[in-house]
Amino acid sequence: IQSKLPGINTTIFSVMSKLAAEHSAINLSQGFPDYACDPKLIELVNKAMKDGFNQYAPMPGSAFLKETIAEKVEKLYDIKYNPDTEITVTAGGTQAIFTALAAIINAGDEVIIFEPAYDSYAPTVKLLGGLVKTYELAPPNYAIDWDMVKKLFTVKTRMIILNTPQNPTGSILSSDDMKSLIKLISGSDIVILSDEVYEHLIYDGQKHQSVMCYPELRQRSFIVASFGKLLHATGWKLGYCLAPEDLTKEFRKVHQFNVFSVNSPMQQAIAEYIKEPENYNEISSFFQQKRDYFRNLLAESRFKLLPCNGSYFQCASYSDISDEKDTDFSIRLIKEFGVATIPVSAFYQKATDHKIIRFCFAKENATLALAAEKLKKI
Ligand code: PMP
Ligand code: GLN
Repeated sequence: IQSKLPGINTTIFSVMSKLAAEHSAINLSQGFPDYACDPKLIELVNKAMKDGFNQYAPMPGSAFLKETIAEKVEKLYDIKYNPDTEITVTAGGTQAIFTALAAIINAGDEVIIFEPAYDSYAPTVKLLGGLVKTYELAPPNYAIDWDMVKKLFTVKTRMIILNTPQNPTGSILSSDDMKSLIKLISGSDIVILSDEVYEHLIYDGQKHQSVMCYPELRQRSFIVASFGKLLHATGWKLGYCLAPEDLTKEFRKVHQFNVFSVNSPMQQAIAEYIKEPENYNEISSFFQQKRDYFRNLLAESRFKLLPCNGSYFQCASYSDISDEKDTDFSIRLIKEFGVATIPVSAFYQKATDHKIIRFCFAKENATLALAAEKLKKI
């Protein structure tokens, strides 16, 4: 059959986690915690099931959860989203990204992506017949020169995808970035897809720059969030999309025929749980400690650490160790040293190899220490 996605292989996250398992390597590749989520949360799911939340949730999400999300968002950013018309509960961030793109992108539309980028963006755009226009971020800081972004604009530019804090680089956007972006798009009808799944994972007292805090951006943005990150429960695949009413209307037209609605008992449990901010407001210091712990361990290795301002990913250059391709190096790291990572070339569409790999530090300290012992031997 003729492939709709020629050249697209199985996602790197599945490939590396499988290899890690086959070789009994420590898995710092795919981003997920290796420790349990809060038992309170599991009890709340059990309770929700016992209480009868076992049939379809309403199509846009449980009213209770949408209201709780609205309260949380308002508390954090002082912005009100209407639970009835501007919040949709999704099957994780990935479905929200797919649905937002499907709702907006027509064949021939151009979408600007900053690479290295989360690997679902480009294939989704292509599946919809859209064209990806790439801005390549340069290590080690992965900063954006907005004058250069402007050069990518054409009459067909339909959307820009932002991701802050960024996967895989751990970089974050500043308020100056936001101001430059506003200037760039003013007078256009460009839509923004802002992937903010790591909104809480930001370090050293820096403030997350959500597009919602800028009215010129908010009115044209889909904002994607994931409970997988917030609750240390990536397998639950729950998240949400915030967008103004006109965009949400289009989003839900797709959502209703894509998943219709998502897991009902977990929506009830999450709403109960996040009603109490003390259940999540330690999360940035929790991950900052892990970042610092892991960076300190690797300081004694031959890896050169890149900055990490957010997310639970630490990138490192191995150019002092080897000149192998990053995919070859990562595979050797699994087979010979027992540690699985992600080669950052997987986050580009064009062959691009800066000899950088990504470690996930959302792990028990003991796991990180064991991995570091092995990495120091290289
Ligand atoms: N966006 C980014 C940048 C991610 O790293 C991920 C994966 N964790 C997602 C979206 C998808 O989130 P989810 O697991 O909730 O689908
Ligand atoms: N976001 C996670 C990562 O970047 C995993 C996503 C996935 O497995 N699809 O590792």
